[in-house]
Amino acid sequence: MYKVDNNGFYGHFGGAYIPEILFGCIDDLRNTYLEVIESEAFRKEYSELLRDYAGRPSPLYHAGNLSRKYGCKLYLKREDLNHTGSHKINNAIGQILIARHMGKTRIIAETGAGQHGVATATVCALMNMPCVVYMGQTDVERQLVNVRKMQMLGAEVRPVTSGNKTLKDATNEAIRDWCCHPNDTFYIIGSVVGPHPYPDMVARLQSVISREMMQQLEEKEGRSHPDLIIACVGGGSNAAGGIYHYLDDSRVQIVLAEAGGLGVDSGQSAATIRLGREGIIHGARTLVMQNGDGQILEPYSISAGLDYPGIGPLHAQLASAGRATVIPVDDSEALAAAIEITQLEGIIPALESAHALGVLPKMSFEHDQIVTLILSGRGDKDLSVLMDYNSK
Ligand SMILES: *Cc1c(COP(=O)(O)O)cnc(C)c1O
Repeated sequence: MYKVDNNGFYGHFGGAYIPEILFGCIDDLRNTYLEVIESEAFRKEYSELLRDYAGRPSPLYHAGNLSRKYGCKLYLKREDLNHTGSHKINNAIGQILIARHMGKTRIIAETGAGQHGVATATVCALMNMPCVVYMGQTDVERQLVNVRKMQMLGAEVRPVTSGNKTLKDATNEAIRDWCCHPNDTFYIIGSVVGPHPYPDMVARLQSVISREMMQQLEEKEGRSHPDLIIACVGGGSNAAGGIYHYLDDSRVQIVLAEAGGLGVDSGQSAATIRLGREGIIHGARTLVMQNGDGQILEPYSISAGLDYPGIGPLHAQLASAGRATVIPVDDSEALAAAIEITQLEGIIPALESAHALGVLPKMSFEHDQIVTLILSGRGDKDLSVLMDYNSK
């Protein structure tokens, strides 16, 4: 009921609003992706790479100390333990296999925090394909280690100096590149955003997260569903993967954490679902942060991975249908949550994931309630921000 329809829409969100020159590419992909993903050959190669290369299944860890503090039974889905440090690798492996199947010989990608860029550069090294990654100049500066990793992996990083010099601008440049090379190039998008079929393709590739969760909960709790799932949303791919197999299961409550920045009403925020109005961004109809004239507003979050003025159409629909509850978490709340899990559980989280953790103090739980939280990535890339905060 909440999955994509035959025309590529989630309710009235989604679709494919693209320049004519890309119509052929998108149409090819739309006609190919399901057949590839469901083929025996793809499934075998994909699941072997997820297991032996990415390190799946990721553990489902019962966080005893946080559970005691918040009065529920909290499990963390440990995407932070994947190769390259986040859930992004699940999608990058899947898309490069699809690209290869379609005979594409060149890969492009956009990246914000650099996690998707590193994951893409990694699979391009693995598959011996040339790779260009577009990244806003501001993000190049604040995520320099990831830039160096991508270069070491053999990718070319192209800094983007238009607009706010962040993810939105990098995405514009990647689309521009794709328009110039529609025949040989595959654009690996890093989240459940962009024109149909990307949101559905990425959600399916990330759905390994909830598939594993069902089995792991069955083993640990004797039932395959949690009562509540919490995940952060930038574009929404870790959340989409974590809820995919529970979308139509009304026993499972969904809570999405979006980036409040300096406060939802401060003018410095990336809380797209709260602040956005319907519009079109990067090929999809969704909620967009925009001014009265429909110009896209510059978002702000301390977390580069959540600093995006749109949201995947799936999540726009879940929020507007009341299926998901959306809670903004401010920079300071995310930072406090990051230090808390570090000291209580010995896990240093990515700043994005810290936004999901920042929901815990805002909720009240029943003590036998089973809560799973998607810990989307590890904090190595954010150490300098976390250390600055901790020394204050
Ligand atoms: C990219 C990223 C996110 C945000 O992207 P989604 O598509 O919303 O999942 C969240 N956490 C981490 C660790 C990331 O790298």
